[in-house]
Amino acid sequence: MAEREIREIPDPVLRTKCDPIGEVDDGVRGLVADLLDTVDQEGRAGLAANQIGVSLAAFSWHVDDEVGYVINPKLVELSEETEEQEEGCLSVPGLWYPTVRSRYARVEGTDLEGNPVTVEGTGIMARCLQHEMDHLAGKLFLDRLERGVRARAMRELRERL
Ligand code: ZN
Repeated sequence: MAEREIREIPDPVLRTKCDPIGEVDDGVRGLVADLLDTVDQEGRAGLAANQIGVSLAAFSWHVDDEVGYVINPKLVELSEETEEQEEGCLSVPGLWYPTVRSRYARVEGTDLEGNPVTVEGTGIMARCLQHEMDHLAGKLFLDRLERGVRARAMRELRERL
C-alpha cells in the first residue's frame, strides 16, 4: 500500500469520533497497511486512522523500532501514577507541550483476523497508547494541557494558522 498524507488541524476529521470496525474487508486491510507504512518513518511514534482521513477505530505505533497496529482498541488499564513530558502530534506539526499522562497503559483490541491483541507499556509506549486512544475519540493532546500551557498553545496555534 502506501504512505498517506497526514491530516492537520483544523481538519474536522480529527474532531470526529471514530466508528468501530465491523467486517474486515479489503478496505480495512488497506487501511491497516497504510497505517503501518505511514507510521514507519523517523520521528513517528503513533498514528490513528482519522489522521489519514478515515474515521474508523484503528491505530498503528512505532516505538523502540517496533511497528504494530490494533483495531477496535479499548483502553483497559491506566496507572494512577502519572508523569509529565513534552508531547507532540503529527497533526499539530512542530508544537510540543508538557502533557501529563499515566505512566503505564494497556490497550486491548484485535488484529485483522479477529485474534485478541494486547499492547501495553510504560514511558513512550504508554504515552503513545493514550495519545492514539484520544485521537479515536476525536480528541487531541492539546485538550489535555494544563491551563497556562493550553493558553500558550492556543496563542501559538493562532499565530500559525
Ligand atoms: Zn497525534
